[in-house]
Amino acid sequence: MWQYFMPTRIYFGERCIEQGKDALKSLGKRALVLTGKRSSKENGSLDDLMKVFSEIGVEMELFDDVEENPTFNLVRTIVSEFAQKSFDFVVGLGGGSPMDTAKAVAVLLKNPSLKVEDLYDPSKYSEALPIVAIPTTAGTGSEVTQYSVLTDDAGFKRGFSHPVLTFPKLAFLDARYTLKLSEPLTRSTGLDALCHAVEGFLSKRATPISDLYAKKSIELIAENLPIVLREPENLRARENMLLASCLAGMVISQTSTTVAHALGYPLTTFKNIRHGEATAAFLDVVVEQASMEVPEKVEFVNSILGGVPNFLKMVGFNVRAEINEEELEVWTKRAKNAPHLQWTRGNFTEELIRYLYERVKIH
Ligand code: NAP
Ligand code: FE
Repeated sequence: MWQYFMPTRIYFGERCIEQGKDALKSLGKRALVLTGKRSSKENGSLDDLMKVFSEIGVEMELFDDVEENPTFNLVRTIVSEFAQKSFDFVVGLGGGSPMDTAKAVAVLLKNPSLKVEDLYDPSKYSEALPIVAIPTTAGTGSEVTQYSVLTDDAGFKRGFSHPVLTFPKLAFLDARYTLKLSEPLTRSTGLDALCHAVEGFLSKRATPISDLYAKKSIELIAENLPIVLREPENLRARENMLLASCLAGMVISQTSTTVAHALGYPLTTFKNIRHGEATAAFLDVVVEQASMEVPEKVEFVNSILGGVPNFLKMVGFNVRAEINEEELEVWTKRAKNAPHLQWTRGNFTEELIRYLYERVKIH
């Protein structure tokens, strides 16, 4: 038995915010826009959005201080700053960080009695403000997923989701916004998308539809990630990466992510390694471990990528971190108990997980 649900209306292509203005207008008159400090002002996306808002008569408030890897405290700050005002919808403009923050804020503004911790129990809420997502990285796919990944007060990344309310209502994907992404950000976000596609494809929760998207996404990334790293302003290749990350988001909206994501989280929050690279550090083993159970899928992944290690080498991946004994122990236990393991194929024993962290460690 399988089901398929992905309720986001996607607008894809040059100037798509302008093209989709009627849909935006239907969401109401007052918008809260969440974005990062700089990039959306430099890549044209914020200007495009503000222009459309003024054409359709939407008033907006801007919070432009969303940091990478949003924390519980960031969400608390935004909610307390805007709780007294009324909004019809919330826009997350930028990478996964502003989009994920928008999902949390959309629930909490509509449910003033809830705390950020309550987001993790979706039975506690049945309403949220509508969410609009405008990605400016080609990576997380958060524009088409129900997930939001926040860093809790102890410094650990934890995803929450609601089966319906935290899916964006509208997503606007215009690859022009991604043309100036730096090489490290292009690499890291592209690898995040690749991990979503491959982890979802090999997940025990994969479905016939998610597999179609996953295969296409893997093919697009294999071809286009090397191109955008070489030719950052190649719009066609940037569009292909944005499509690939969106497809990969649709994959994980059905399958969730698997053990590579669970293992990568502490490398990001405690060692400052970007999410995509922190995750990709474990992708080869996800593929290896699946080879007994789904050999034909593993064969597909390896034939398209030429093997995960080769592909990572080709795109210039290199991740190392200082990890002490206590961290090794705590992270290993945490990863072993992560829900992600339920749908990961193979046998990720404590020994294997510890070895995988040892592999990343600077000796
Ligand atoms: P991000 O954390 O949103 O942003 C990283 C950096 O990229 C920021 O410094 C940002 O600058 C810059 N940036 C964004 N767009 C840019 C552009 N077009 N040109 C130049 N610079 C740009 O990065 P991300 O990788 O997209 O998101 C990572 C987050 O998403 C993590 O917290 C991860 O856990 C989460 N995630 C969520 C899902 C999901 O399903 N919801 C899936 C995977 C990962 P500014 O701050 O100036 O904007
Ligand atoms: Fe991810």
